[in-house]
Amino acid sequence: MKQLTGYILIIISLHFTPGLHAQKVNEPQNNPTDWSKPYEPFRIAGNLYYVGTYDLASYLVVTEKGNILINTGLANSRQQIKKNIERLGFKYRDIKILLTTQAHWDHMGAMAAIKKETGAQFWVDAADAPEVRSGGATDYELAYIGVSFAPIVPDKLLNDRDVIQLDDTRLILLHHPGHTKGSCSYMLDVTDEDRSYKVLIANIPTIIISRKFAEVKEYPGIKTDIANSLTAMKDLQFDIWVASHAGQFGLHQKRKPGDTYNPIIFSDRKGYDQALENVWKVYKEK
Ligand SMILES: [Zn+2]
Repeated sequence: MKQLTGYILIIISLHFTPGLHAQKVNEPQNNPTDWSKPYEPFRIAGNLYYVGTYDLASYLVVTEKGNILINTGLANSRQQIKKNIERLGFKYRDIKILLTTQAHWDHMGAMAAIKKETGAQFWVDAADAPEVRSGGATDYELAYIGVSFAPIVPDKLLNDRDVIQLDDTRLILLHHPGHTKGSCSYMLDVTDEDRSYKVLIANIPTIIISRKFAEVKEYPGIKTDIANSLTAMKDLQFDIWVASHAGQFGLHQKRKPGDTYNPIIFSDRKGYDQALENVWKVYKEK
């Protein structure tokens, strides 16, 4: 979730699963239209591809031993992600590991369904484990505003600096809490025909609360976590960066549909520093 301030949530009940863990999934009906709009999948750099919607970024890491999918958008993003993967010439069912940058409905919406369809394992930052298990019911803000997503049982819990390895691709989890308790970024090295790139998939610790920090009793450490994450992220070195939302890293300013492969458009250290600076501004106001 990028931002909720200034927009009223209308909740719809997506489906009801009877049985032992009966739970209603309440996804907002008036999400920004860019979240559901399709966008062409493309190769970002080396074995890293963009397979998300117009604004909800999903990343596919392709290896000889299967693929890793990071973020799954809204519940209705599933078909788009599947189509995008196939359009690039890869197999949907080759997804072996599912990851998220944060346990919010706009990145977790289709996670349970994709896991079920592909049989992939879902690994998550340990601090977001209660939130993914409860479908957001334990989240400090989602519970507050009544938003949820299909719950999912993680196969593995990850901690800061843990390595997620598939074939010879290694992703390092960087624990960047604050937006959610277990928000995280990923760092990986990719190589193409010409060179290698250190890639940061960043989770910008956007502040979404309408309340003051002190009032967020469900997440007492939120203020410290955001400050620490912003400081840690400022120190990161990388060649190119992307983020949980396309709008956060200016995808549509940097790349137009049909553009040819050109990883270097995603360098942009200045844009990254500015994105962090924008959060600092909101932080200081709070
Ligand atoms: Zn979020």
